[in-house]
Amino acid sequence: MKTIPHFINGQHYEGRSNRYSDGFDPSRGEIVSHVPLASPDEVDQAVAAARAAFPAWSETAPLKRARVLFNFKALLDKHQDELAELITREHGKVFSDAKGEVTRGIEVVEFACGIPHLLKGQYTEQIGGGIDNWSMRQPLGVVAGITPFNFPMMVPCWMFPVAIACGNTFVLKPSERDPSASVRLAELLLEAGLPPGVFNVVHGDKQAVDALIAHPDVQALSFVGSTPIAQTIYAQGTARGKRVQALGGAKNHLVVMPDADLDQVTDALMGAAYGSAGERCMAISVAVAVGSVADKLVERLTPRVRALKVRDGMDAEAEMGPLVTAQHRNKVRGYIEDGIAAGATLVVDGRELTVPGRDKGFFLGGTLFDNVKPAMNIYREEIFGPVLCIVRVPDFAAAVKLINEHEFANGVSCFTSDGGVARAFARQIQVGMVGINVPIPVPMAWHSFGGWKRSLFGDHHAYGEEGVRFYTRYKSVMQRWPDSIAKGAEFTMPVAK
Ligand code: NAD
Repeated sequence: MKTIPHFINGQHYEGRSNRYSDGFDPSRGEIVSHVPLASPDEVDQAVAAARAAFPAWSETAPLKRARVLFNFKALLDKHQDELAELITREHGKVFSDAKGEVTRGIEVVEFACGIPHLLKGQYTEQIGGGIDNWSMRQPLGVVAGITPFNFPMMVPCWMFPVAIACGNTFVLKPSERDPSASVRLAELLLEAGLPPGVFNVVHGDKQAVDALIAHPDVQALSFVGSTPIAQTIYAQGTARGKRVQALGGAKNHLVVMPDADLDQVTDALMGAAYGSAGERCMAISVAVAVGSVADKLVERLTPRVRALKVRDGMDAEAEMGPLVTAQHRNKVRGYIEDGIAAGATLVVDGRELTVPGRDKGFFLGGTLFDNVKPAMNIYREEIFGPVLCIVRVPDFAAAVKLINEHEFANGVSCFTSDGGVARAFARQIQVGMVGINVPIPVPMAWHSFGGWKRSLFGDHHAYGEEGVRFYTRYKSVMQRWPDSIAKGAEFTMPVAK
């Protein structure tokens, strides 16, 4: 049985806390590794390494920092398949999907390679007699990232490439459910020329997270995970004066207007609801059928959901893999039972699925509910599994109202061929990321990712220019030289002369 090591100060470290969690292969339902859970002392070791590395790294020219990231990007390209396989083995998502995740992670590294340009300040010559004013962005120090199980490479890459490019040093606490990708990233960063201590990985649970929040040397925390934990971390971190961005859960709707192409809608819903077994924060979990469209939509979706190829994620034919753990699979089953009890129409029941040769795997088939009402738990709560709910509404205004009343506001989509409807939707919808005929509108690396309402706590979205702002402090400098200083004290508010 292998033990997944921490990575501190450029070295693997087995951990001495004597607390472990089990790492599973979700397709086989077997324990394949032990994951050490860091003690507060071990978190302190990682923070101390990051703190020691900060002075030299923050003084390294941005262009040189970018070159390390450029080497890292080349190594990521070379190791794409290996990284994707690590993800599939621990998370369960199908290999082609894991490769997509790796690509989206690499794109943030590519963005961070442009850091010399992104850190350029602004300069105004002659704001007053002989005085110039300029601004600069400086790194914060040691920053920490706490990431969820569902994107073991992409979500860490939302954080650390930008953070270290800005001159910070980093401690990552990945999900204990699929920690191997993070350690591999740390090894590749070292190989790319990153000095030891600039990027560290500690595995752990609440104890490690609490230690990071409380640590006086940690200046900022980026969190991605479920909403209750995001809210707590935001409250506790900001109460200690730290900068915090905490991205939470989601319930993403896709509005189907009567003029939408239903073949396109069906394809979009299949991928967005059942891809990665619905374990995506941008998964579509609610189809909002407007007017007469609902019956036709159910008719098209039903055979497609029944025909989903649910297999081991490494099977080249697989469209959907298992859920991440038995516990999570059982939670999702519980939601299906809840939906039936609440009176929703169960059109396709994923609980019936068996996968030959993988009897112990954490599988659940695609599930489809119709006639879901806003008061039901399966509508209100994030299920995070392969369950699509159809809500029927009479018109466009009712669709917008329904979505705007939900507590989550991460992603949303509208399928229509009417430009006026599309424009009105984009403007009126109170959600952070909007797709028009695009089911999963995850912004590219040079835009920024984030939801509204209870899907994000904090002022900045992740990566892109918002990420640069989050990981730097703004400073404004005014300068003049003795030859332009007039004699005599001034007691009035300085104004341009
Ligand atoms: P989670 O909240 O259980 O765990 C996230 C991280 O917090 C992990 O590193 C975990 O070890 C740690 N953690 C767990 N319990 C903790 C506690 N009590 N105190 C402090 N830290 C704790 O989330 P998950 O199940 O790994 O991931 C799924 C969730 O993440 C879903 O809600 C999903 O919507 C959300 N998510 C959101 C986004 C987004 O961009 N908004 C992206 C990906 C995932």
